[in-house]
Amino acid sequence: MTRLAICNARAVLPDRMEDNVNIVCRNGLIESVSADTIADSTDLLRMDAEGQLVVPGYIDIHVHGGAGADFMDGDVDSIRTAAKAHLRHGTTTLFPTTTTGSAKQILNMIDACRENSAEPDLPWLPGIHLYGPYFAADKVGCHSLDGRRSPESDEYQRYFATEFVRIATCAAELDGAEDFYRAAAKHNCLITCGHSNASWAEMQAAYEAGMRHVDHFWCAMSSVPSLRQRLGVPMQASMAEFVLMTPEMSTEVIADGYHLSPELLEFAYRMLGPDRLCLVTDCNRALDLPAGDYRFGSQQDGSWFYSDGRVGWAPDRSSLASSVVGMDHMVRHMRQSTTASLPEVIRMASLTPARRAGISDRTGSLQVGKQADLLILNSELEIQRVIARGNPVS
Ligand SMILES: [Zn+2]
Ligand SMILES: [Zn+2]
Repeated sequence: MTRLAICNARAVLPDRMEDNVNIVCRNGLIESVSADTIADSTDLLRMDAEGQLVVPGYIDIHVHGGAGADFMDGDVDSIRTAAKAHLRHGTTTLFPTTTTGSAKQILNMIDACRENSAEPDLPWLPGIHLYGPYFAADKVGCHSLDGRRSPESDEYQRYFATEFVRIATCAAELDGAEDFYRAAAKHNCLITCGHSNASWAEMQAAYEAGMRHVDHFWCAMSSVPSLRQRLGVPMQASMAEFVLMTPEMSTEVIADGYHLSPELLEFAYRMLGPDRLCLVTDCNRALDLPAGDYRFGSQQDGSWFYSDGRVGWAPDRSSLASSVVGMDHMVRHMRQSTTASLPEVIRMASLTPARRAGISDRTGSLQVGKQADLLILNSELEIQRVIARGNPVS
């Protein structure tokens, strides 16, 4: 059995950096992280990090596709194409994320993802993020409105029965939302509210039913003005205030430089801290592809959007339609735009999402016994090598 030693690393640990670290991986797991000299042996493969940064592989809890494929295309080739594209951008664990669509499309997507959950040349797929279709009609964003609906037990119990749904989203104001959250809690999901115009009272009821996370903060969610429009006066607190004021709640930001300004990223970081804030890509199929028109969601009937090569736009260019970049970009942008330290930025892309999604015993930090998911980065935080479960994949 071969061991892999990554020597002379500048290791980024959850709370600090350490120089001259040697990391030994065996059978896909981290066997040691130390300054000890690693003795040569015939079964040892040595990789010299040359003093560069070694960080845990990134974990994306909200991602739709890449390299021309959307997870909702629902076939094995598309899942592989999209997952592989994100691996090149440093994501070693991801939760393929559904859009609005038919039950058949969602079930196909779950099956195809499960078939590819532990391939050696792909990121680990611990389960899917059931994101669409349970969105509020007035917050559907770039998703197809036809595929949106309220949660019905007959439908979602089929998804949960696969035991492959690990993150579950529903707009809190929909009929049946609380039953949905309770069902998701029974299946140990991270429960989230997104594409929602929920009020404080609706968020409180959702919280009682197990909801603990909000999708892409400030995007397709309620605000004081949006609630004033929906419910009149007195003005009411929204999803934003609920998240900020409730320590058990986490959320995520799309830090691509187009969705949120630097001061909003800094605000989210300072108000929530690196243990309640995840970086996500929310990336669609246009990752690594030239500017052009693409479908969001299934290639059959997903809604059209336009990628200018930097971000996705609604067809009339009036609003954004998710990102077209990988997690490596999000990490660089968050580092440049905020006062968060490098260990904190990396934590928001690894250990924090791992903890929130319930997989931090397996991955998310450079710790003995965890999966050997690691990246070598240069000082510009560009990916030099990707090692997924002990395999040097690029
Ligand atoms: Zn969204
Ligand atoms: Zn999304």
